[in-house]
Amino acid sequence: MNVTELARKLKITTNELFDVLPQLGFDIGRRAIKINDQAAYKIINNWSVYQKQLAASKLVAAESQVTAEALPVKKAVTIPAAITVREFAALSGFNVSKILTELMKNGIFISMNEKIDFDAASIIGQDLNINVILDQNEQTADSQDGNKLKNIIASQDKSTLKPRPPVVVVMGHVDHGKTKLLDAIRATQVMEGEACGITQHIGAYQIEQRGQLITFIDTPGHEVFTAMRSRGAKVADVAILVVAADDGVKPQTVEAYHIIEQAKLPFVVAMNKIDKPEADIDKVKSELSNQLNITPDDWGGKIMCVPISAKEKTGIDKLLDAVLFITEMEKDKIVANPKAAAVGTVIESKIDKGEGSIATILIQNGTLRPGEIICFNNQPLGRVRMMKDYKGEIVVKATPSMPVRISGLKASPSIGDIVEVIRANSAAAKMRLGKIKKDSFKPSISQRPAQAEEGISAKYVNIVMRADVLGSIEALEEALEKLNTAEVKVKIVKKGLGNFTESDIHTALASKAVVLGFNVQTNQAVQMLAREKNIIINSFNIIYEFVDLVKQKMEGLLAKQISRKELGVIKVLAVFKTTASGQIVGGKVESGLIEPNSKMEVIRNDAVVAGGELVGLQSGRQNVTTVAQDQECGLEFKGKPVIKIGDVLRVYREEKNIKEL
Ligand code: GDP
Repeated sequence: MNVTELARKLKITTNELFDVLPQLGFDIGRRAIKINDQAAYKIINNWSVYQKQLAASKLVAAESQVTAEALPVKKAVTIPAAITVREFAALSGFNVSKILTELMKNGIFISMNEKIDFDAASIIGQDLNINVILDQNEQTADSQDGNKLKNIIASQDKSTLKPRPPVVVVMGHVDHGKTKLLDAIRATQVMEGEACGITQHIGAYQIEQRGQLITFIDTPGHEVFTAMRSRGAKVADVAILVVAADDGVKPQTVEAYHIIEQAKLPFVVAMNKIDKPEADIDKVKSELSNQLNITPDDWGGKIMCVPISAKEKTGIDKLLDAVLFITEMEKDKIVANPKAAAVGTVIESKIDKGEGSIATILIQNGTLRPGEIICFNNQPLGRVRMMKDYKGEIVVKATPSMPVRISGLKASPSIGDIVEVIRANSAAAKMRLGKIKKDSFKPSISQRPAQAEEGISAKYVNIVMRADVLGSIEALEEALEKLNTAEVKVKIVKKGLGNFTESDIHTALASKAVVLGFNVQTNQAVQMLAREKNIIINSFNIIYEFVDLVKQKMEGLLAKQISRKELGVIKVLAVFKTTASGQIVGGKVESGLIEPNSKMEVIRNDAVVAGGELVGLQSGRQNVTTVAQDQECGLEFKGKPVIKIGDVLRVYREEKNIKEL
């Protein structure tokens, strides 16, 4: 529906509509021309309720404004997701050297023509007493990202495009069995003898059906899919719409269907829970057809509706065949060039205690290999140190449609980011390569690329906070200040008086901040937005509890800081014995002091090709407990037997260092 038409129906002006839409949880940006029909009808049907909510929140805003006047008025600066220092200086009215100094104070050493991200800008904005706001029209830039992916595929020479496994997403109403179905599909495919079927949860997995690989995005619920969709990334090729046969079409079934429709995804319906006596397949079919215009193929329509029981694992084979059938129909679109530089979408991103920043990337074009440099928006995130598949096994290449968990990045990307490899011989790479330190082996954790590259030692817990009165804000700030240590600090990216607003949630999302309220309320629209963006609003009325939560978050960062102790490096001179589960090799200790019962990485051409354990150590045919630098030794390696003469073995111990403030 056109936005103007919706405004007419609600008897308000288009500008008024744009003002209220974000408050109602429909943030479509002020430049939008259309709004999706489902959202439009939801607004029309609930308009009288919404009007009451809006009136109430206006009242609260007016009330808090009275108190807010006690705070010094801050200048507001709206910026895009990344901005050069020079542009930021011009916008904020400070000279460039002032901005550079503030950046330096925060450990960011860059030139005036280099870009800082929103996160960095809002942190220095705090020090400069300016309110930095992310341009809501950034959505447009994000969808250009999505087009970027399409353009990359379109620009490939047709002869280089090869079929790739389809990527499948499972959607549907809560409790209709999405998780159970994903588990059931995975379980039917576990090969015998495969580590008891234990897989790592990396947000996606692959199975084989009739000799063909299928990739499943293993993140039920809409959140991740919506995040990716809103950034314009078309991640999946096929959708499975799960509808419980005992419950029928429900609100989230409708919502999921609209997402599928908008993304123009071909789909199959899985009618789940047919083992239940209340299951009524015909009723589900008629609801699908009446409410969503989905006509099942056996009713003369085009959509395959497969009865299944995820619990009893029945019908799964048929469902997978239906997915393969759709894949066959869409085969011209499900292609990629495996020889190109890798491009993919981030489907999971977190900081791991042992490995630092890790991300799961679904490769969409090209092949990713360890040692390559990954960039987001032309900014290097770091070098891929190690790649693991969903089974947790180290792999040395990830081809199109393969989900792969990578570690070694110096900065964490966000879910939905489209990341790409800049090949070392390209001109662009030559310009950027100097920025990445050669040594990619040190675990390094940071949320921010600019900081990460400079190896800054202090970490921050970003905070968005609100309180009822100025006195509370001051007391809380003072208490938080006392928590700062040399290694971890609190950074208040936004503070305010009165109830939470949607802009708080946007700021928290952009700066990965913890949201804390003291004696304040959250209206329904803000709650809805927070839920949608996966932001937790922590509310307190006791200062101690407020401060304690921040303390816990800070300790959490400390705990992640120290992860491994390097013992030394061995150069492999001989391979004596190779079995399926390990090798006995000989080598010379190039540095350090090697001890048995430690962990080990096999490194070839600067990239990790396997990992395992060093279980035995010998010197002069005697078992020993240490071997020092320049000495030769024999060692027993437990792991994938890939070691060759000339490889480097990096031996280390993992140390859990749980620190308290
Ligand atoms: P999700 O919210 O869509 O991910 O739903 P879940 O997979 O968590 O399932 C919700 C509930 O339904 C759980 O208690 C499941 O055990 C149950 N469930 C899922 N599939 C089936 C099924 O095929 N039959 C029966 N009887 N229960 C099921």
